[in-house]
Amino acid sequence: MADGVAPTEAKWRYLQNVLNRRGPFTDPDWEPGMTTLETLANMKILGAGGLGCEILKNLALSGFKDIHVIDMDTIDVSNLNRQFLFRHSDVGRPKAEVAAQFVEKRVKGVKITPYCGKIQDKDEEYYMQFGMVVCGLDSIEARRWINAMLVGMVDEDSPDSLKPLIDGGTEGFKGQARVVLPTMTSCIECQLDMHAPRAAVPLCTLATIPRQPQHCIEWAHIIAWEEERKDITLDTDDPEHITWLYNKALSRAKEFNIPGVTYSMTQGVVKNIIPAIASTNAIVAASCCNEAFKIASNTNPPLGIPETSNYMMYTGDDSVYTYTFEHQKKDDCPVCGNLARKLDVSPKCTLGEFLEGMAERPEAQLKKPSIRTEAKSLYYQFPPSLEEQTRANLTKKLVELVGDGEEVVVSDPAFQQPFKFKLVFRD
Ligand SMILES: [Zn+2]
Repeated sequence: MADGVAPTEAKWRYLQNVLNRRGPFTDPDWEPGMTTLETLANMKILGAGGLGCEILKNLALSGFKDIHVIDMDTIDVSNLNRQFLFRHSDVGRPKAEVAAQFVEKRVKGVKITPYCGKIQDKDEEYYMQFGMVVCGLDSIEARRWINAMLVGMVDEDSPDSLKPLIDGGTEGFKGQARVVLPTMTSCIECQLDMHAPRAAVPLCTLATIPRQPQHCIEWAHIIAWEEERKDITLDTDDPEHITWLYNKALSRAKEFNIPGVTYSMTQGVVKNIIPAIASTNAIVAASCCNEAFKIASNTNPPLGIPETSNYMMYTGDDSVYTYTFEHQKKDDCPVCGNLARKLDVSPKCTLGEFLEGMAERPEAQLKKPSIRTEAKSLYYQFPPSLEEQTRANLTKKLVELVGDGEEVVVSDPAFQQPFKFKLVFRD
């Protein structure tokens, strides 16, 4: 045994291997020894969101002992296949509470403080108490919110105000784990285009030359239903309706020699559901907790140290592939940069069309935007009196309201901070 505290519990046996010896990438100043276990035990760490079971279990088994967890959901019967801390008798109870009780019971000495609600319910003072935040949130909006909160909290004179954010996300067989050192490395907002809404398949492809089984299903869904059953409102929960679409898609797929149409794929495409895959969640959560462990213990350099990789992507749908790279910080990031982000707009487009388009633009993704220039209010969603005063602008063309290259400030109720954009005219 090297210097340091002798571990008394067999459960830390595997940590000894990492904590008692140096690795090829270990910092020269790092001292091997089990004292690091105390550092882990004393660090308050926050976990949030859908990867929760995996993250909570991993953190507790990595030596973290003061874990807080935020989740707003209650347990549904469909969660039980992968969210292994829950049992049938827990259905209907808050996830955060049940998960906390389960892990506390199994890993003695760990304290888990649950909060059932939204991350947005908490303020700066709350987030300030943690050493770092590990997120497995399932909504991009919640990710952007916590990111903006942590970036906003950084005070250059107080190093403790910088809270590393470790973010994991999955979509079917794909996933990613990334580390954000707020203000130092690329933030979630810098990387927003990585979450671009999926492009719709052009209608002409569906109607003329389908290439994928999904195209045949979309054809049945959008075109065939409309032609043959337009008096019936499609109910995606009705098995008879899904079966009808499945059979239609199947015969179209045969016509074009496209294999692969199945009933469950039909259900997935029509309901726009990407299934949560237990193995992807496990891999991504493990990667996140590995990063948390490296940051807290200094045993090895984590993702996100400036000038190195900060983003690990994983895909498991066509064999197994991972790629780790540096996503660079953007000077025009509305959260951590100081320049306005450039948006190409058509001067002939109306303000109303422009605002509607904000939801789909990969670099904006705002659903209820209000907009003003330096000098005047262009359109406000709230309060009602201001909405009424500015409503007439919605039908005006952008060229009548702003100059080419002019900066606008866009605010959205889902975010605390406003976004700065520079509108550049393009026909
Ligand atoms: Zn940024």
